[in-house]
Amino acid sequence: MLIGVLALQGAFREHQWSLEKCGAQTRQVRKPRELDGLDALVIPGGESTTMGKLLKDFDLMEPIKKLARAGMPVFGTCAGLIMLAKHIRNSTQETLALMDIEVERNAFGRQVDSFEVDLHMPWLGKTPYRAVFIRAPYITRVDNEVEVLARFNEKIVCARQGRFLVAAFHPELTDDLRLHRFFLNKIVNEQI
Ligand code: GLN
Repeated sequence: MLIGVLALQGAFREHQWSLEKCGAQTRQVRKPRELDGLDALVIPGGESTTMGKLLKDFDLMEPIKKLARAGMPVFGTCAGLIMLAKHIRNSTQETLALMDIEVERNAFGRQVDSFEVDLHMPWLGKTPYRAVFIRAPYITRVDNEVEVLARFNEKIVCARQGRFLVAAFHPELTDDLRLHRFFLNKIVNEQI
């Protein structure tokens, strides 16, 4: 299984390590041709306005949209979640617009830039999932087709729409591989 990790900015190396620990091969993606032959793509955290701009500058916006619409699974974390959303509250910034969700950026308030919490995600197993949030967004609205996978303080922080998976937190910054494994085993595997 070959998984691309968008490597324009942000925590892409950590995602590669997590994916490789799960047994997948990875490839950093900075050029359109580096999308060739991928089984899936991971979009890391970072800064979504910068990432959006870089996606356009590097001519990646349209090729990624096209592949994703044609069936490529995509996992977006934090800024990556924002990039997958069709709507961003109070913003017209361009995204890949793949999921029927509305998000709010920096939604937990500027005072609490980062924090860690134990999330209840029974579909990943009994042990709570330690989630690291860094200037995180949350999901404010979802369409019928979107499955809500986790909430924190009632706010939606993890969701899935078919082959698209998003988390408001950073699964690549802990040793818990369950979310990466879920993406590979339950989403990517079923697609190929
Ligand atoms: N605050 C960033 C944004 O709005 C996301 C932060 C992150 O990816 N850690 O783009």
